[in-house]
Formats: sequence, C-alpha cells, structure tokens
Amino acid sequence: MAIFQPRRENVSIYEISKADLLKWTNKVLKPTAELAFKGEGEFKAGEYCKFCKVKATCRKRAECNLELAKYDFEMPSQLTNTEISSILDTVDSLISWVDDVKGY
Ligand code: SF4
Repeated sequence: MAIFQPRRENVSIYEISKADLLKWTNKVLKPTAELAFKGEGEFKAGEYCKFCKVKATCRKRAECNLELAKYDFEMPSQLTNTEISSILDTVDSLISWVDDVKGY
C-alpha cells in the first residue's frame, strides 16, 4: 500500500501479506467497526484525532489532554527530566486540541 500526499511532500509505504491483511480485517477491523456502528466500544485518543469531526468536543480527547494539568499540582517545585520528557511527548497533541477547541 502506498499513500502519496503531494502537498505534504510525503510518501508512506506499508507492506503486508494478503493473508495477514485478511486476518486483521476479520479479527480486528470488523469487530471494532461493528462495535462503533452500534455506538459501543472504546474511545481512543491519538494523533489521528485531528482528522475527526468531533475533535473539538470529544470528552475522551479532552480527558487525555487535560492529563497534562496534573503537573500544576505536582511536588516538588521543579519538574524532573522524566516529567519534562513526558510533557514534550504529548505537548503537540495538547496544542492541536486547544486550537480545535478555540476554533469551535
Ligand atoms: S476525537 Fe474522540 S471520537 Fe474523534 S478520533 Fe479522537 S477519541 Fe475518537
């Protein structure tokens, strides 16, 4: 499979055997899609949320991004390198979510 995004100057290529693709379809994709169609299943926020219609109002996405607020109440007064690393891992997501909420 290849995806060409000329405006991003991006080419993504992914290879999978037909058998593995069909196995994933039957064991993962179909059951998950059926749950979603019934309004059941589990919300999972991620980078892909930026493409979602409810990205500005989704509670799960808000909860995930508001996790960063916990650092306001952490002791001691200085963040550790591990905490800073954790913040840097998710800060782009947080900025993207705040922009979506502001836009909404
Ligand atoms: S914004 Fe919410 S509903 Fe949309 S993809 Fe993210 S978690 Fe799922």
